[in-house]
Amino acid sequence: MQKRAAVLMLSLSLLLGVVIQRTPSAALTADASANIEADRPLIALTFDDGPRRATTEELLDGLDQRGVKATFFLVGEMLPDCEDLVERMDREGHQIGTHSYDHVYLTGLSAADFSRQVDRTEARLTELLGHGGFVLRPPYGRIDNGVEKRAHSALILWSIDPEDWDDKNTDRIVEHIVSQARDGDIILLHDIYPTSVAAALRVVDELHRKGFLFVTVEELARQRHVELKPGQTYRSFYP
Ligand SMILES: [Zn+2]
Repeated sequence: MQKRAAVLMLSLSLLLGVVIQRTPSAALTADASANIEADRPLIALTFDDGPRRATTEELLDGLDQRGVKATFFLVGEMLPDCEDLVERMDREGHQIGTHSYDHVYLTGLSAADFSRQVDRTEARLTELLGHGGFVLRPPYGRIDNGVEKRAHSALILWSIDPEDWDDKNTDRIVEHIVSQARDGDIILLHDIYPTSVAAALRVVDELHRKGFLFVTVEELARQRHVELKPGQTYRSFYP
């Protein structure tokens, strides 16, 4: 009897230990989340078409120096040469989404072709990172009923598009974004151009001065109490 009681006490204290250890961090996280919303306008930087070593690495360095979290929509065929960069994104708290395997239109595809584009990319990422849960940005923002039906994650588009691929003019890109930025916007850029990386970091500095806080798309949705649903399209999360 005494032995059983001792075992019981030990189990109880172990259980209590776990509860006590976990409670403070959970409470801190909840408090931190609550503060974010009350204090500052929120905005999400998103980057498509990478990763590309020559540019994405510099971007990650710049974001790290500024304590900024962003969201990356990755192209499957770009992954093999940049696995360490993808691991770094994940480790440093950026959100990772998919952007098809070969950067093709996902509209009008058969179920098998859709799977080859989206599921295959997700599978590679899961293999690399050890977790799932990747939101999807269809290339060119093109969505039809088939995409909505087959996607097993939310479809994330954008509310600010400076068309950074067009003239690759850093000054113009920065001006476009900073003049339009509102609480809850999602900004579209491409981390495969040096001009866009430079623009992104300048945008961070200028919007920081205006009080903005950069968060991942997932965090932005959470702060606005929006539950992301598979196959549903989101362009912004205005208050
Ligand atoms: Zn793209």
